[in-house]
Amino acid sequence: MTKNDVPAGDFIREIIEDDLRTDKHGGRVATRFPPEPNGYLHIGHAKSVCLNFGIAAQYGGTCNLRLDDTDPSGESLEYVESIINDVHWLGFDWGNRLFYASDYFEHLYQFAVELIKAGKAYVCSLNAEEIRGYRGTLTEPGKESPYRTRSIEENLDLFARMRAGEFEDGAHVLRAKIDMASPNVVMRDPIIYRIKRVPHYRTAAEWVIYPMYDFAHCLSDSLEKITHSICTLEFENNRPLYDWFVGELIARDRPRQIEFARLNVSYTVLSKRRLIQLVEQSYVTGWDDPRMPTVAGMRRRGYTPEAIRAFCAKIGVAKNDNLVDIALLESCVRDDLNERAPRVMGVLRPLKVIIDNYPEGQVEEFECANHPQNPAMGTRKVPFSRVLYIEQDDFAENPPRKYKRLAPGKEVRLRSAYVIRYQDMVKDEQTGEITALHCTYDPETRNGPPPDGRKVDGVIHWVSADHAVPVEVRLYDRLFQVPDPAASGDDFIRHLNPHSLETLVSCPVEPSLQDVPPGSPYQFERLGYFCRDSEGAPSDPPVFNRIVSLRDSWAKIAGKGGK
Ligand code: ATP
Ligand code: MG
Repeated sequence: MTKNDVPAGDFIREIIEDDLRTDKHGGRVATRFPPEPNGYLHIGHAKSVCLNFGIAAQYGGTCNLRLDDTDPSGESLEYVESIINDVHWLGFDWGNRLFYASDYFEHLYQFAVELIKAGKAYVCSLNAEEIRGYRGTLTEPGKESPYRTRSIEENLDLFARMRAGEFEDGAHVLRAKIDMASPNVVMRDPIIYRIKRVPHYRTAAEWVIYPMYDFAHCLSDSLEKITHSICTLEFENNRPLYDWFVGELIARDRPRQIEFARLNVSYTVLSKRRLIQLVEQSYVTGWDDPRMPTVAGMRRRGYTPEAIRAFCAKIGVAKNDNLVDIALLESCVRDDLNERAPRVMGVLRPLKVIIDNYPEGQVEEFECANHPQNPAMGTRKVPFSRVLYIEQDDFAENPPRKYKRLAPGKEVRLRSAYVIRYQDMVKDEQTGEITALHCTYDPETRNGPPPDGRKVDGVIHWVSADHAVPVEVRLYDRLFQVPDPAASGDDFIRHLNPHSLETLVSCPVEPSLQDVPPGSPYQFERLGYFCRDSEGAPSDPPVFNRIVSLRDSWAKIAGKGGK
């Protein structure tokens, strides 16, 4: 943890501090992060990770990583591995406290038997539709199931046979016997076990009945002696049920559920169901597509754990759902990279420049600072020769007023090198496109401004043609074109941004980028932050992802009514 990771106080921390003062849990603080391994983690999960692990660290407590794998459909080892990897990468450590809810299956079964024996649970043989019909509505009470009065012996027998696989899926369920007239629909005899013949990625075919979330979660918390079970707001109505199960079955060290608002981020979607759709229907290249809001996607894009943690600290935790501007996440990424990323030069859309008065075959090396504010980051040598590349839009044949780059009759400084003056341009006869510029350089400007006092305002980046490394550059933009793509429901796909990926090939970059490791961030001067992509063979032309531009280009555009 660094200074940026510790958020200001919030209502959850207040509760914990109160509990510590009153010695409620014997001074213990035990939290957990309980993802279901049915998808990759995303930035919303990162908020929960930072909250749970952050609180444990701050109050000298513990945080468990628990794979909440009690519903076999959609769960897999691939997801488990990605989750473990991602939480580690975010910077958190659970020591020897990695748990699987599926390890509690026997224990949970025994808890259910205990409820039956206490007359607090029964096997119900209504079908799913009937159960729904009997449940009532928000304004009308429910109706009691005709099976509610089964004897304890019959319930024990049927439940054992459910486990033994004697019945088809859906033939029976086990329900808690609470109150069909409760104003809270959640309390109207909720289902706690159902028959589901789906092999589990860990327990295979051992179980054909699986516990429901509401039952499994609070009891898993109890078994792990969690003190504060922090979850998102949609479980607020389920809290009485959480407390009911714990009250019936747990004598001491009862955990307490606390809800906070889930994170929503603009211009993206965070529901797993929607993310799975993007992956399965190939709208993106995979869970780690750099445009995805997943931890894997952000990592491949070049976001750092520090930036993500700083973002999570900045947004804080609250009780009201809201939509956080993705620009805030991007600005946290910029702030972090501005400090850590060495500066380099690369050209995205090259225009050839021939320095007519520079000797053919001559090469000079310029010593360039890797970071303008941080001399400790050192320097590197950048070769200069007669033929260079500059950015196409750093030259204008008919410049607008106050244009500070290269234009007919004008001079410009090449970053860390000489001042050059425009002489002539070469055009393609067919297309009229400018294919090269002829310039001259002023040898007196190697280490400073022209000695005769003429003013040269503009500074542009460049790469020596003979020394350039050609790379592929992928420019990423927001995945969706509208701030809240899921607002209109399942047709969110139509809001995908068709320009979310632009690929540029054969971009000349300076030779120091030849063998850099994947993921290390660089600032391409004047262009943004980039890192080498982690995919692809080393022999291929290297691929660089744009992590983030230097400025928020959407802020300006939004002012003009959107893109
Ligand atoms: P989804 O609803 O998209 O399927 P989930 O909440 O079911 O996601 P889980 O794997 O159950 O996903 O989540 C693990 C933990 O992460 C839970 O405690 C959950 O509350 C939290 N979490 C999930 N999404 C968010 C979010 N957007 N913001 C904050 N916390 C979240
Ligand atoms: Mg969930």
